[in-house]
Amino acid sequence: MSPAPGPRSRRLWRRAQRALAGGVDSPVRSFRAVGGSPVFFARGSGAYLEDVDGRRYLDLVGSWGALLLGHAPAPVVRAVRAAAAQGMTFGAPSPREHELAEQIRRRDAALERLRFVNSGTEAVMSAVRLARGATGRDVVVKFAGGYHGHSDGLLARAGSGVSTLALPDSAGVPRAVAGATRVLPFNDPEALARLFEQVGETVAAVVVEPVPANMGVVPPVPGFLQSVATTAHRHGALVIADEVVTGFRLRLGTVHRELGLDADLVTLGKVIGGGLPIGAYGGPERWMRELAPLGPVYQAGTLAGNPVAMAAGLATLEQLSARTYRELETTSRELERRLNAFAAEERVDEFTVQRVGSMLGTFFAPGPVVDEPTASRTDRRRYARYFHAALDGGIYLPPSALETTFVSGATTVRDLDRAGPALRAALAAARKGRRR
Ligand SMILES: *Cc1c(COP(=O)(O)O)cnc(C)c1O
Repeated sequence: MSPAPGPRSRRLWRRAQRALAGGVDSPVRSFRAVGGSPVFFARGSGAYLEDVDGRRYLDLVGSWGALLLGHAPAPVVRAVRAAAAQGMTFGAPSPREHELAEQIRRRDAALERLRFVNSGTEAVMSAVRLARGATGRDVVVKFAGGYHGHSDGLLARAGSGVSTLALPDSAGVPRAVAGATRVLPFNDPEALARLFEQVGETVAAVVVEPVPANMGVVPPVPGFLQSVATTAHRHGALVIADEVVTGFRLRLGTVHRELGLDADLVTLGKVIGGGLPIGAYGGPERWMRELAPLGPVYQAGTLAGNPVAMAAGLATLEQLSARTYRELETTSRELERRLNAFAAEERVDEFTVQRVGSMLGTFFAPGPVVDEPTASRTDRRRYARYFHAALDGGIYLPPSALETTFVSGATTVRDLDRAGPALRAALAAARKGRRR
């Protein structure tokens, strides 16, 4: 195939840059992290995307994990069409809101009360506000490499030592706001214990992805998540399990409890919206009653609980069964096996795949990757060569080295068979020391 992007994508990119800030509505879409200019998509169907130049790609991003069932699954499309025809938004109660909440609670009984918002960012931001309101404390603890959306306080990176104040990770974030966030290394229970010894009584919440999927995929080491909850609870802090990615992605429900994380509040997004904008947070009535209108913590949304998004979420959840996850596991294991086999055959050194369910972290670095510093050792230039060769061969991978490769339920082993030669060529292109 000729190199992507094609002529139409290139033309659209020039035009988009004159209309949108940086040409995009979310920075990583710009391909800055891998070089070149982005592909513009016209449609998606099942496991495949088609760009505006008519080229087809096996989609291994799935809108950053949101599309568990692949593109445009018929039952979800039908439900969205029907819902849209009945009205796009009411800004008033409608039954699908509590129906979706009930369906989610069926899969995690601890989510006694839920609140829907429009994005994962809003879900985590609101859960943090709730934790602060409920505890009367200000400090939030997060882990380096964990992504919890782009709200001010969570765009913070660690200062020089673990007990120093966090620094803003973005211009426009007040130091005082970032300073209420403490950033710790993931998978390091001692660092957590030390911080809590020092300032434990000021901590409102620890927010953690049960399986971090925003620095590649980094499984928690045994005992780490248990110690997060034990330490936090001993000091009267809440635990927020950020399951915006993992919720309904790794199993039919949330994963934190299964992984030993005793969370107080849970955030959801991505999969539960079936591709429409959504976020949710929930927990025991005891905490959720702190929210207005019952309690003093304010949070609202014009389009929150949007009837079309609720319909997409309900139709998606209806499609999910234990079998969905068994099949995802089979396909994903097969992708992992092939990546490793091709890498070995093509003598690609220092290549590490870390897979949890249908999420794969691919690092051009020696493993194991256990935290942000080890993830950051990945060779971004090699990843860029891998990415572009895959793209030219009809495989759409995440356009950034530290993002996760997602397999959708629409992907089959046959799709992987077809993609095999391109995947192998992509790995060969990323061989160490080779130039583009
Ligand atoms: C994607 C993501 C978010 C943010 O969700 P948006 O819908 O992009 O705002 C928050 N937390 C985690 C773990 C995520 O992966």
